[in-house]
Amino acid sequence: MLTLSTKVQYLKGVGPKLGQVLASRGIYTLEDLLNYLPRAFEDRRSVRNIASLKVGDIVSLKAQVLKVSSISMGRSSRKMYDIALKDSSGVIHCKFFRVPYKGYFERFKTFDFVKVVGKVTDYRGRIEFHHPDLNEYNPDIETDEDQDQLIPIYSEIEGITSQKMRRLIQMVYEQIDWTFIHESFKDPIVESLRQKYAIVEKWQALKLLHFPDPQDAAAYHEGKTKSHRRLIFEDFFWLEMHLASKKSGLKKEDAKAFLPLDQLAGLTEKAIQSLPFELTGAQKRVLQEIFFDLQRPFPLHRLVQGDVGSGKTAVAFLASVYAKENQVQSCLMAPTEILAEQHFKNAQKIFGEVMNVELLTGKTKTSERKEILSKLISGQIDLLIGTHSLLEDPIVFRELGLVIIDEQHRFGVEQRAALKNKASSPHMLVMTATPIPRTLAMTVYGDLDVSIIDELPPGRTPVQTRVVYESKRPEVLKFMSEQIAKGRQVYFVYPLVEESEKMDLKNATEEYEKLKTQFPNYRLGLIHGKMKSDEKDAVMNQFRNHELDILVSTTVIEVGVDVPNANMMIIEHSERFGLSQLHQLRGRVGRGSAKSFCIMILGYAVSDEAKARTSFMEKTTDGFKIAEFDLEMRGPGEFMGRRQSGIDSFRLANLVRDAAILQEARKAAFEIFQDDPSLSKPEYQPLHQELSRCQALFTDA
Ligand code: ADP
Ligand code: MG
Repeated sequence: MLTLSTKVQYLKGVGPKLGQVLASRGIYTLEDLLNYLPRAFEDRRSVRNIASLKVGDIVSLKAQVLKVSSISMGRSSRKMYDIALKDSSGVIHCKFFRVPYKGYFERFKTFDFVKVVGKVTDYRGRIEFHHPDLNEYNPDIETDEDQDQLIPIYSEIEGITSQKMRRLIQMVYEQIDWTFIHESFKDPIVESLRQKYAIVEKWQALKLLHFPDPQDAAAYHEGKTKSHRRLIFEDFFWLEMHLASKKSGLKKEDAKAFLPLDQLAGLTEKAIQSLPFELTGAQKRVLQEIFFDLQRPFPLHRLVQGDVGSGKTAVAFLASVYAKENQVQSCLMAPTEILAEQHFKNAQKIFGEVMNVELLTGKTKTSERKEILSKLISGQIDLLIGTHSLLEDPIVFRELGLVIIDEQHRFGVEQRAALKNKASSPHMLVMTATPIPRTLAMTVYGDLDVSIIDELPPGRTPVQTRVVYESKRPEVLKFMSEQIAKGRQVYFVYPLVEESEKMDLKNATEEYEKLKTQFPNYRLGLIHGKMKSDEKDAVMNQFRNHELDILVSTTVIEVGVDVPNANMMIIEHSERFGLSQLHQLRGRVGRGSAKSFCIMILGYAVSDEAKARTSFMEKTTDGFKIAEFDLEMRGPGEFMGRRQSGIDSFRLANLVRDAAILQEARKAAFEIFQDDPSLSKPEYQPLHQELSRCQALFTDA
């Protein structure tokens, strides 16, 4: 008799060769096979013809191949594939933006009969399928056995069609001894949890996905069956368990508990009073949250999120004054030298009276550097500001108590950890101007407490945004001239795309030359990522000192630079970017009192979807709203950068659609750790084991 741990090649009809193909996708055992979930469902009862399709329908269709073609995409070497299909009622195109596997498109020949399952999509007023499932079939020998059924559709694995996969999985169910399974494979989501959160048992959930009930077709299409609920809950649950365990681990570390303000000599209060401005309500609230954490005997671990210009730095500096008053040092790490210098100047200007601030970057002279290092060890420096050069070995503090990281998403996990390791267990404050929707923050930063500065200092006028096509360029340039005539400065941004970095660089350089000839009277500067940092700084300083009217740049200006007199930004090819990135860029203007403008230019060949997405920027300057919208449109990748978190391991969960289930899973996980921080109760054993297995899969964001 077969069991779940039996190797797939012992299943009848599989054998070593097929076994190898399955293994290449991580399917080794029968259990793995059962965990291979359908990616769609085909409702055989609603077979349709092309003429009857409507946007948004998930349908199955029988048709004939008309033509298979490939089209080069822009200037990159990537290709798009197009399979045109017809039936007696019309023609529809299936578009593929990537190749499912080598040889996939060669499979389909003109006049072949195929079955398509996919979602009807709109492209410029025309319907088409994007990445549908296609299967050849032979109309002469096709039987009607599945006529009344809801059929699971599996993603193909080289040569293993969805049909074949379905057959294999059916065989597992036929050949396996199920009584044995229920006894020997304990559901890691334990009984008490299943009851509390109305979760069905794992084997039941899987079976109902592989043998869907046609009565529930709609729920299957929407991902809303009991089975879905179970598996989505599980996707979130293990990630939340992982975060909850990290967090409860932190509570076991010792950190210096700061004294409450009323037991101190009033330095922090004096610093607050001597600020050149009144703190906003949001700043005060966040400051209180931070101070409260700092008074506990375990490390503060808090993320401060706030839109560009919301005043995060002032809050961080005040935390650092509070640290000084508690006899420990702080350091602040920023991603660029320009930014570190800007922070240093501000800190000196505003807090120079109450604490000793120093700057250490790659540019610091050797003699000066020596002096700083010795002052650091002797404790004469209260706050050290710098770039990643702070991470170097010879940098030793007398007693580092507070680590602050600005624009944290620009640093890797290792860099953040290295800074933290400069002390045994310092308090850690990280800041980000990339607002992240709450649901996402919960999964990505679940072990961090999150504070949100959701209010801008008074007196800022929101940036006025317009999205225009290339053809409007002459008007845009005319408007730019008017602003410059008024003594204003302009950013001209050429977004940099990874895969064609060289190209974009060329574009920025060319555009710079072109603008120079076009506007010989204006002073232009160029800045891009390939320049040495002192060259960049020199140009940036010229711009800051109003020795330049126009700054042409790639996205290197994205991060925190403050030039209040620059009130206009022109962004080229804005369709290529995530809205959160556009929002970051736009945050460079609107920092002074003058009315500010952001013009987002769209390339010629953009889709309606890209246009609609970009146009959202005209409607709001609220970073959180933009982030929510972006998450909905583009998924979580946008926020995570290259470094993915546990989100990669989600099988069915969708952060937007399933936010409510996420809340439940999080609650469940945190309650378990509250109840039993070491998971040592016998009833939690299956949980404990599965968690250890999952944790190996998560890399931290
Ligand atoms: P962030 O880092 O959040 O983008 P900063 O801390 O750099 O923002 O603050 C942007 C600017 O606003 C700085 O010039 C800062 O001095 C100023 N600022 C901060 N808080 C306030 C406030 N409450 N009122 C007025 N100006 C403020
Ligand atoms: Mg900042």
